[in-house]
Amino acid sequence: MATALENLLVKGLNKLLRPVNCTVVGSNHSRTCFNGNFERRHEPSFGLLFDIDGVLCRGQQVLPEATSAFKKLRDRHGKLRVPVVFVTNAGNCLRQTKAEQLSDMLQFKISSDQVVMSHSPLKMCRHLHDKHILVSGQGPVRDIAKGLGFHKITTVDELRDLYPHLDCVDHSRRRMLQKHIKEKQIDHPQIDAVVLFGEPVKWERSLQLVIDTVLTNGDLNSKPYQVPKRHLPVIACNVDLLWMAEAHLPRIGHGSFLLCLEALYQKITGHKLQYTVLTGKPSEITYHYAETVLIQQVRKMGLKTPIRTLYAIGDNPATDIYGANLYNEYIGSKLLQQMSQAKSVAIGGSTSDILDSSEVESMEHNCAEIMESVLVCTGIYSKKTSLEVLEKDPVDHGHRDFHFVPKLATPSIEVHCVKEAIEEIFKRENFK
Ligand SMILES: [Mg+2]
Repeated sequence: MATALENLLVKGLNKLLRPVNCTVVGSNHSRTCFNGNFERRHEPSFGLLFDIDGVLCRGQQVLPEATSAFKKLRDRHGKLRVPVVFVTNAGNCLRQTKAEQLSDMLQFKISSDQVVMSHSPLKMCRHLHDKHILVSGQGPVRDIAKGLGFHKITTVDELRDLYPHLDCVDHSRRRMLQKHIKEKQIDHPQIDAVVLFGEPVKWERSLQLVIDTVLTNGDLNSKPYQVPKRHLPVIACNVDLLWMAEAHLPRIGHGSFLLCLEALYQKITGHKLQYTVLTGKPSEITYHYAETVLIQQVRKMGLKTPIRTLYAIGDNPATDIYGANLYNEYIGSKLLQQMSQAKSVAIGGSTSDILDSSEVESMEHNCAEIMESVLVCTGIYSKKTSLEVLEKDPVDHGHRDFHFVPKLATPSIEVHCVKEAIEEIFKRENFK
């Protein structure tokens, strides 16, 4: 019986021997199966990871191409024929809420098990779950944190209620704050880590209180006399600088908030803010998690054919495409990593540094052989801001901790819309 390592090496060799962009009709690994009634069933050997905004919708507006695409993906009973997972960098709502939004949008039932939010991989970071965390964002941030496994939670708004004098950008509050400053010391347990879920409504409040928390290593009653050499863990979900809503121009996202936080912290202290974990696309851990979720879908659907190719469909070269290509490189290098110990390009996103060894081991068995990146032009990217322009005069919209490599922002497939993406994938996979 072949060992796990032997299987990995065989996969690696197959990948290396496979010519780039080569579609071999009839050997596309899909297979015809028979169920108990001898009904022919054509099984896919590929899975789909969909970004949401800019691919399926623009803000609240569903794109008509998305409805057509999902008609192709469903059988005559209305069930999905191909395993599908939705991977979004949104972080200010629960998976269940996102699944309900998708069900309304696509007019069929999407389960919360098919949704990966930018914070979802934190479920696997069990060693952090016992820490008392400060959470920043908007929406049901406490419920999100609880759902991920955290149980000692303080929100930025709760912290501000305890320490109102720390939030004084608003001039109209300053008279009231003069009174509060004379009051006795506040009894509040020390904060062990900061979790940044998404962009808050009051940026100045979160910026101030997060910096205060980092500077004091979580003890807001203390006055720091020096900048901590090692500050408490800071975890950030969703590094998207921009996103595409209904407006004709891109909108600033959580990545813009992080940029402000990093710049302020460095300017104030002279030191770089260090992240313990970065989740959401393009981080490696998010694609690992998405692959694990997709494999669970394969099992639920009763498919027997192994998934060999993952297609990640997105509209943002800096996150969707970069992340998919980075993960594809990781898949390739992982197959030989026992020999080379190759390092991931992403700093702060290396899965083995973040997860328990048992989690990493269980995910090793899920590994597809290749991930293809599919870029659509219905969102943040359009032909007018084409990749040639980006390559000649690159503007780095990625996060500070992901080195900008223009090659990684180049898709393996470029199409106009999600419907064309599905048609192209079916053609490549000889799937009808
Ligand atoms: Mg998008």
